Amino acid sequence: PAEVKRRKIAVLGARSVGKSSLVKQFIEKQFIDSYYPTIERAYVKGITYKGNEYVLEIFDTAGQDEFSPLNAQYAIGIHGYVLVYSIASRNSFEMVQILRDKIIDYCGVTDIPCVIAGAKSDLDSSRQVQVSELEKVAETNNAAYVETSAKDDINVGRVFQLCVQEIERRLSGNQAV
Ligand code: GDP
Repeated sequence: PAEVKRRKIAVLGARSVGKSSLVKQFIEKQFIDSYYPTIERAYVKGITYKGNEYVLEIFDTAGQDEFSPLNAQYAIGIHGYVLVYSIASRNSFEMVQILRDKIIDYCGVTDIPCVIAGAKSDLDSSRQVQVSELEKVAETNNAAYVETSAKDDINVGRVFQLCVQEIERRLSGNQAV
């Protein structure tokens, strides 16, 4: 049988954009409508992508702002990134580019596998970021993108499928991996 592929994914974004809720919904299939400042922790989940088995190690982070230095833990050995903002917060959307630039800078690379996730898509009535803006920033950064709601369980699995897609499309042709 084919070997199980292990992939490490870091979930980054401004505070309270819904990172933990997204990860919880993905891992535990539940949404708890309360805010507990995130304890940084890792979760493990198996998925199938294009007929292959993957074990994802997902690092939920406390949240970053423009002044937080990037934690080495979230740069070294990470295969892919989920950069999360809330569709109801323009500031959090602007953090996505800042974070992406920080990762690129820290890792000394020009490209990273990442998916940009517009969280809280159920809050359409308080929307501050249009889908067209998401598409544009994704295109500029060679990233995948999706809007998602942990609350309504919309596109949650898709976020992580897309992350694996971004990882694998850069690895294909690389015999070592
Ligand atoms: P984190 O700090 O980025 O990990 O954010 P949390 O997951 O702790 O969520 C912050 C707040 O946003 C909490 O009050 C959540 O209940 C709320 N929240 C998270 N995801 C959603 C969502 O998909 N829709 C809505 N309406 N609220 C959400």
